[in-house]
Amino acid sequence: MRILLISPTIDSEKRTNKELMLPQLALYILEGLTPPEHEVKVIEEEVSDIDLEHECDLVGISCMTANAPRAYELCREFKKRGKTVVLGGVHPSILPEEALQYADCVVIGEAEGVWEQLIKDFENNDLKKKYHNPEPDLEKYIPKDFSKIIKKRLFNLVPIMTTRGCPYNCEFCCVTNLFGKKIRHVPIKNIVRDIKESGSKNILFLDDNIIGHPKYSKELFRAIKPLNISWVGQASLSLLVKDDELLQLTAESGCKALFFGIESIDEAQIESMPKAIKQINQLEEALKKIKKAGILIHASMIFGLDNDTKEIFDKTVRFLKKNKVSTVSFNVLSPYPGTKVYENFKKENRLTTNDWKFYDHNTVVFRPKNMTPYELQIGKTNSRKKFYSISSVLSRLLGNLYNPVLYLAMNYGHMKQARLEAKRVAKLKTTLFGND
Ligand code: SF4
Repeated sequence: MRILLISPTIDSEKRTNKELMLPQLALYILEGLTPPEHEVKVIEEEVSDIDLEHECDLVGISCMTANAPRAYELCREFKKRGKTVVLGGVHPSILPEEALQYADCVVIGEAEGVWEQLIKDFENNDLKKKYHNPEPDLEKYIPKDFSKIIKKRLFNLVPIMTTRGCPYNCEFCCVTNLFGKKIRHVPIKNIVRDIKESGSKNILFLDDNIIGHPKYSKELFRAIKPLNISWVGQASLSLLVKDDELLQLTAESGCKALFFGIESIDEAQIESMPKAIKQINQLEEALKKIKKAGILIHASMIFGLDNDTKEIFDKTVRFLKKNKVSTVSFNVLSPYPGTKVYENFKKENRLTTNDWKFYDHNTVVFRPKNMTPYELQIGKTNSRKKFYSISSVLSRLLGNLYNPVLYLAMNYGHMKQARLEAKRVAKLKTTLFGND
């Protein structure tokens, strides 16, 4: 049987730079789970065109919320051509009934333990509408070998996942809803095997919190230390700074940069969040400690929270520059379906569009409490521009001299993106915000 696996773009007319694209792990997990007698072709639309006439028996499309409209368009096209289409990924898992309006079948949640069954059912002409295996054993997680795919990609970064699940259930995030509260692990020997087989020395751990279970993380870091890799990932700042052994092992195992969800520097706002670090002076101390360990800091901030006024933009940029944070993602609050924020905004009639393609944490799709949607949009864009100005990059370099090459490479990519964003927002002014 021939299977075509697709990850669609948000907009097929505007693609990301090929070199900046990380391999879409979901597709390669499916490829790894497919029994070897079947032929699989993977298409990441950001890097290659989709041939709608491609000879295949089954089409699998994986999508998030922002690329769901494009996924649905592809479902229509393939079905017109007589193909059977399966949808999976975050958005179809949260809204399976919506997905079934376009596809023959939907995989809810994780693919391990259901993908093989789905293929068998399809061969026996007995495909079900929904497949769901909650919290599968991650022993079965076998991503396909990445060695050929990564050659022309950013830093040859290989994506690897070690855990799924999160106990915190933050109100703007659907990870707990999707993967459950319990943290499940991939066996460490499998991770070591996957890193070795990838042939790369640069690894991106995709876990929502690579240190969420410190005992497991310490074992993992001890096991990968002899591999002499460089890695980046996402972690909880409070967990990492309170455990000196964990921080030391993290750095010694090759960690070069970590993504921290700081979200807000407004103490009243932080108070309402499930965060262990509640005060700004504690936050500054924690950032200093990470830098001292030789790890670059990528902070993720959210604008548009209910406490935010127009003052929050400059205040946040000042804080990030003062603390010489290496790079930052400036997001706007995005009420993704499946989150408490979405349910609240829907009830309060605060959503301004139902077009999923704008649900991308870069576009304002709701009415904030203390400013207009456009003021929030432009405030976020200008913060990004200020933080990535040449003078700001150079002044922050002084606090990142322990890894200047990676620091400059990371900032260069963000500077380019900041310029593109300013152009995009100018266009959105008329389409999305009208006379706002
Ligand atoms: S934002 Fe992070 S900590 Fe909160 S639920 Fe999502 S993954 Fe867990």
